[in-house]
Amino acid sequence: MWDDWNLRNAADPIYGSTNPLLGADFPGHPGAPGPYPPPVEGSGATAPPSHLMDKVSGYEGISTGGNDGRYLPPPPPYPGSGPGDAAPRPNVQWNIPSITEETAKHAFVQYAESKCCYKSAPAKEMVFRDFQPFNTYRYRLETFTESRSSEWKSVPYNGEVIHAYGTAPAPLPWDIAVKVPTLFKDGEEKVKVPYTSSVKPCQTCLSMGQTICQKCHGSGRVQCWVCNGVGRRMNDRCSHCNGMGNERCTTCHGNGRVTCTGCNGKRQLLFYIELKVTWKNNAQVFLADKTSAFPSDLFKKVTGKQLFTDEQFLVYPLMTFPDASINQASQIAIQQHNTQFASTSRILRQRHTIELIPLTKVDYIWKDISYNYFVYGVENLVFTEQYPAKCCCSVM
Ligand SMILES: [Zn+2]
Ligand SMILES: [Zn+2]
Ligand SMILES: [Zn+2]
Repeated sequence: MWDDWNLRNAADPIYGSTNPLLGADFPGHPGAPGPYPPPVEGSGATAPPSHLMDKVSGYEGISTGGNDGRYLPPPPPYPGSGPGDAAPRPNVQWNIPSITEETAKHAFVQYAESKCCYKSAPAKEMVFRDFQPFNTYRYRLETFTESRSSEWKSVPYNGEVIHAYGTAPAPLPWDIAVKVPTLFKDGEEKVKVPYTSSVKPCQTCLSMGQTICQKCHGSGRVQCWVCNGVGRRMNDRCSHCNGMGNERCTTCHGNGRVTCTGCNGKRQLLFYIELKVTWKNNAQVFLADKTSAFPSDLFKKVTGKQLFTDEQFLVYPLMTFPDASINQASQIAIQQHNTQFASTSRILRQRHTIELIPLTKVDYIWKDISYNYFVYGVENLVFTEQYPAKCCCSVM
């Protein structure tokens, strides 16, 4: 066991008495395996080397886990980057096509047939009275951001080659090149920051790789559960423990010690700063609502016809769209996003779109009574609060 330890130390260039990384935390080479220690609990056992805490330039004050890591403010935006000049093209046709009677009727019949307790007769026999368009616009701004945070990590050290602290300056958090996976999609990546690594003897087992078994306190045997340690049941010898009153500890298989959970038996821990890169697509949606009779929440279920889209590093607020509320929503949303994200993350890309969502109110007559329904979205979904012929199929 200890021979391995000696061999690895000799072969390992970062480990040895002259290694500055080990500092005062290294207790020196043990002459022989002593008594195995009870496991040491608490954060101190896995704390990074004290002489490195707050010493890595650009990573001062970061925590040792347990939360999301310390967030690292981004550097100023790239020089020369600013909003592009892309207002909607003036020749875009903003006017709205209305649906045909045939489409409206087809949608209504399908709607009635999809409901088990609606009779389809009204949808088939009704007479159209009026069509009113209430088409509306949906504006969506998406801001794709990247944020970075870091914290100290420790893992069992397997003897691999490391970028040791002190052999070169650690790159600053925002200087580490990380490839953006997909634009406008949430994602996350974790990176080991180069030149922040160091190896430290495991404090949980005092670098022995094993700790005393807490179940049998190192004896390897526990009280027999059948005779409760007496060795007899009634007047007979306990057959489970052969009258010994104890049995082999199953936790440590009778060894009296178990593999250290702190270092997984490796005796040493590798400490390093982990950089977490998070990509997030932040979307803000505004609906130019024109009618109160239709529940606007339903618009979330449908798509519209895309009238305008623009994608740039930073998009330019819309100014000339015929609906003033959309221009205003665009200006407010862009300003909000730019203020909100500039200080906490780096904006990588923005995209905004205007969709036209068809909404038509259809008035009709069935058996001399007036009713109405709405057809909405490119999908031609139907909404109505008053269907003339409902039965209740569940009560039969
Ligand atoms: Zn027994
Ligand atoms: Zn045990
Ligand atoms: Zn350990």
